[in-house]
Amino acid sequence: MSATDCTSCRRSSNDPAPNLSVTRMTSIVPELTAALAAGRYNASALTEAYLDAIRATNSSVNCYVTVTEEHARAGAADADDRIASGTAGPMTGVPIAVKDLFCTREIRTACGSKMLDNFVAPYDATAVARLKAAGMVLLGKTNMDEFAMGSSNENSFYGPVPNPWDATKVAGGSSGGSAAAVAAGLAPVALGTDTGGSIRQPAALCGISGLKPTYGRVSRFGMVAYASSLDQAGVFGRSVEDIAPILEVIAGFDPQDSTSVDTPVECYAKGLTHAPEKLRIGVPSEFFGEGLDPSVEATVREAIATLESLGGEICEINLPRTALAIPAYYIIAPAECSSNLSRFDGVRYGYRASEAKNLDALYQRSRAEGFGAEVKRRIMVGTYALSAGYYDAYYLKAQKVRRLIAEDFQRALETVDVIVGPTSPTVAFDLGERTDDPVSMYLSDIYTISVNLAGLPALSIPAGFAHGLPVGLQLIGNFFAESTLLRAAHQFQQATDWHSYRPPGVEDVLPHEEGSP
Ligand code: GLN
Repeated sequence: MSATDCTSCRRSSNDPAPNLSVTRMTSIVPELTAALAAGRYNASALTEAYLDAIRATNSSVNCYVTVTEEHARAGAADADDRIASGTAGPMTGVPIAVKDLFCTREIRTACGSKMLDNFVAPYDATAVARLKAAGMVLLGKTNMDEFAMGSSNENSFYGPVPNPWDATKVAGGSSGGSAAAVAAGLAPVALGTDTGGSIRQPAALCGISGLKPTYGRVSRFGMVAYASSLDQAGVFGRSVEDIAPILEVIAGFDPQDSTSVDTPVECYAKGLTHAPEKLRIGVPSEFFGEGLDPSVEATVREAIATLESLGGEICEINLPRTALAIPAYYIIAPAECSSNLSRFDGVRYGYRASEAKNLDALYQRSRAEGFGAEVKRRIMVGTYALSAGYYDAYYLKAQKVRRLIAEDFQRALETVDVIVGPTSPTVAFDLGERTDDPVSMYLSDIYTISVNLAGLPALSIPAGFAHGLPVGLQLIGNFFAESTLLRAAHQFQQATDWHSYRPPGVEDVLPHEEGSP
């Protein structure tokens, strides 16, 4: 396998420590699809190589909670048949990891919770069904914060996911397992979900790329619901070249999800090669205020300067209600979660307390024993906010604020094509550092949450390093402007090599090539 030597890349003072390993393969999906098509190795060999690597290191990375060896082997054999018979699609045979929140037939879907530790869904989520139909190979289900509530993956029943760059730090959350799997080279690409930042923030903290599409772009059918008006499925990859073809597979209208939108799916991968448009790029001053680590700010500002040198027209904009996003979200998301999670009652799904004396005790004990502390906190907050007498003061008010936040974005997007800023105010923080302080944990998502409230698409891409750890640049676009975001990011990734850095000791997983010694 050839590695792309990126000699013309920009380098700057925020380079990581010199002992970090650097491979020069900037994207992996184009390499894998080319090798599979040319018969340099087959899907089965590729899958075995990943399964070997997972077996060797997953106990320390803890990114997979279930490794689906048998399904992966069967899927790879199927992919090889399709390739041999000429019926393969472009992604056939490419392995992928899936957050353990997407329902998978015959495979446990635990959603990071003791409550669903024994749950096997009778069907596949639409996104998973589409991956399978495209011939992609499911390697396993990834670790996550319980019911997708968290920013550090420390709320998982299956334990935290250490950051592949530094095992004393968090990988981010809630899709920490998917992000770490890609960063640690244990999956070429992965699916995650993003309700308030759970794709972009772990992507930023793990030094990879992550896309949250427009609300409604990808079906939510078969995703365990957290906050239904905010949840959206998306993709992790090392670069947008890796993400774009997967988005093409999973996006599109689904009659089983009434909030999925019936607009055509674009050729996102091909679109990357179109001549870049001259973009007007807005930099919200509210994204550079108090709480932003100065080294992260310097790195992000340098990335913005790169976008300018590539022809972008930079202007300062305002998103005046940014500070209201966290309070509004932490009313709306818990309110929706308190309703969505009422189905877990010990009767129909998952965990059931033993020897309950009556039905009330069964409900109470099953929920008390099955849910973790953060989930309980949110159910209580949400139930309170929706209760008679408080509904208007909290829930209704939060919905009004949400509308104002969405309007701020629309006003800004009348004058600019893309909004950029930091993804996270800090680099990966210490494991345990914020677990006793929910508010400081919630502040991790200060730049990502408003985007979900507005329903817009956004992307985080590697932009450099601060304190020796990866920093993410966030790009936000208008509804269904995924192709604009991906193109802008691709242009940046062609001019820089931040996405090609791998954590220390991480090698690409590649099978032996046919005909090579
Ligand atoms: N960190 C946020 C929360 O805990 C967002 C989670 C998410 O996007 N799923 O709610």
